[in-house]
Amino acid sequence: MVQLIKKMNQTVLFVIISCILIFIWWMTIDKFDNYIIESKNILFQSESENAVKHIAEVFDGKMKLSKSLKAFVELQGDGLTQEIVDQYGNSSQLVDENVVNFNIAPDGIIEFAYPKEENEMVIGHNLIMDERDIVQKDILHAIETGKSIITGPVDLIKGGKGIIIRDPIFIDNEFWGFATIVLDAKVITDVIDNYNELGQYQYFISSEDNLFNYGAYFNKEESDIILKIPNVVLDLKISGKINDEFNFLNEKNIRYFKYFSFFVLLLLIYISFDLTHTNKLLSKRVDSMIYFDKLTSLPNRRSLEKRMNEIMGSNTFYLAFADLDDFKYINDTQGHTIGDHLLKQISGVLLKYSTSKVKIYRWGGDEFVFIFENHSYDEVKNLVSKILSEFTNPFKIEENNFKISMSVGIVKYPDDSENIDDLIKSADTAMYSIKEKCKNGFVFFNDISTDAYYEKIAISNRMKDKNFVNDLVVHYQPKVQINNNKIMGMEALVRLKNDDGTLISPDKFIKIAEDKGYINLIDRFVINKVFSESKGIIEQYGLKVSINLSAKNINWDFVKYIEEQMAIYNIESRYIEFELTETAAIQNIESVVEILVYLNSLGISIAIDDFGKGYGALNYLLKFPIATIKIDKEFIDDIMGNVTGNKIIESIIELSKNLGIVTVAEGVESYFQLDYLKTIKCDDYQGYLYCKPVPYEKFIEIIKTREC
Ligand code: C2E
Ligand code: CA
Ligand code: CA
Repeated sequence: MVQLIKKMNQTVLFVIISCILIFIWWMTIDKFDNYIIESKNILFQSESENAVKHIAEVFDGKMKLSKSLKAFVELQGDGLTQEIVDQYGNSSQLVDENVVNFNIAPDGIIEFAYPKEENEMVIGHNLIMDERDIVQKDILHAIETGKSIITGPVDLIKGGKGIIIRDPIFIDNEFWGFATIVLDAKVITDVIDNYNELGQYQYFISSEDNLFNYGAYFNKEESDIILKIPNVVLDLKISGKINDEFNFLNEKNIRYFKYFSFFVLLLLIYISFDLTHTNKLLSKRVDSMIYFDKLTSLPNRRSLEKRMNEIMGSNTFYLAFADLDDFKYINDTQGHTIGDHLLKQISGVLLKYSTSKVKIYRWGGDEFVFIFENHSYDEVKNLVSKILSEFTNPFKIEENNFKISMSVGIVKYPDDSENIDDLIKSADTAMYSIKEKCKNGFVFFNDISTDAYYEKIAISNRMKDKNFVNDLVVHYQPKVQINNNKIMGMEALVRLKNDDGTLISPDKFIKIAEDKGYINLIDRFVINKVFSESKGIIEQYGLKVSINLSAKNINWDFVKYIEEQMAIYNIESRYIEFELTETAAIQNIESVVEILVYLNSLGISIAIDDFGKGYGALNYLLKFPIATIKIDKEFIDDIMGNVTGNKIIESIIELSKNLGIVTVAEGVESYFQLDYLKTIKCDDYQGYLYCKPVPYEKFIEIIKTREC
């Protein structure tokens, strides 16, 4: 179920939830409407009932008067005089301010009226001859039924509106005349107004004989209530309805309100949908910041780890760790903008290989990782070869060609390891082994010598604390003048001694020490060791000692250390040379130049090591106070046959001569090479041909005997 919900398209889910919400809303509104209407009606009903009771009371009172008047007239009969009528009117408590007048009409002609003074104009009025329709109707009805008739409201002869209660009088079973009470219409109007102050209701009160009609007529269907007025001789009926303008919550308005609220709800749903949509976009953007590399838009290291965690356990996969060869040099010599362009272009090429089963990540810098899910060994081999073939042609940036290659190490999950860190480490080791061997190729971790791997781990473990420094030793390799074969200096080369006396080459531990932040200790150790042990022969034989410096150590603290050591051992600066690789010099070029100029001002010489291995960015190097250029062994190796290689050496030497820089050939192993170097006037050389790097004691012997 949970799975199903997860799978369901979120939009569908959203629409369903919205529909449910709308339904609930609609029902609630309906219920609410009914409730409002009902409570409004209940109020109306109860107010109307009270009004009806009130009206009934009024009529009851007036009917009493009518009965009493009728009895009075019947009693007096023809003996009636105005005086007696006045006496009756004055004494009756039932005659109040609502009674406009009452009159007695023997044979239908008004003969007596009370109060007489205000009603003299009605005296003599013949009701039977009255032209008013309603009067005609009421007298007829009264005679026919013999009952009290309520009529009205009528226009009174003396003006205003009145309600008439008329009683037919029969004496000795014979029609004698009428007794009529004229009430001010206010008697009803006041009551109704009292309950209908705001005019929120509309009433229509009528008698069954239709002689009494109060209010504007409306039919039954329009009525919200119909009530009978009780205890009245006459059957009065009151119909009422709530005035539309006061009945805001009438059906029509409620319908509008429903539609309106429906649209508001839709709008809210849309807004919230839009918000969730925006949130989705936002979270996508956050995701892309967290899981994607900004420069190349490739998924990043975090994304890789996430994916690996997802598939580990259920899938087998190959992981290929790829590192661009010598990319650092391009970055250092051409600048980061070009470097970034190149990385983007390369990422674009790599991305072509991305499928549902092949994913490409940027691990960092110039390193990429490929994950091949559920692939066979051969499939991976073919794919990686194909990817590497993309590097056959140079990449082009702003009309410049960049020839670049890539080294790839491949591991298999779960065979090589079941742990992310170890998989990456092993792939990295495999990648390094191919880089050291030939570059531009790939190798499976399974196929590399695991000795190298375990050696690396052992060195790493050994460097967990600073004590490894106690096992460092320094060997010296003579530097010889080519034209006279005289030793004029030596290079100090560090080694790490194993318990069994065997030595570990700096190539294997310098990088680890750099990574662990211990390179400072090594270079300080070498300076101290060289100064302390060889000061004697240096001065005695006038030798210049060359010390390698890691790029990481070119800072003022280190300069201070050098000066301290020079002072302690009282060693002259002209005997000291520091060797730096091109890359070391080019990184942080401003501060490095400053430091090198300072060292040079002290009288210390600076040599550029492994010259030519990088991109020969001589224009950069000319900013430094360089005394020596050491031509990389790769070129010396090439002397055997490679004409281009020779050309490069020749130009390096020619240029150096022009600039007054001393040239040193590194790794000279044959007389052929030496002879050639002699012809092209290289100054000095180092190499196994003369002597391998040897311990101090051995070096002294060589100096003394000039024999290696
Ligand atoms: P490098 O400065 O280029 O040193 C020259 C390397 O070439 C040395 O390797 C040396 O033994 C080797 N070599 C010399 N002549 C020949 C030859 O004829 N044939 C062959 N195949 N090799 C030859 P080593 O001593 O293993 O040093 C490797 C690298 O370690 C050095 O390269 C240098 O970059 C670094 N290194 C050595 N000592 C130190 C040090 O005290 N501090 C720092 N930071 N780096 C050092
Ligand atoms: Ca060196
Ligand atoms: Ca070198």
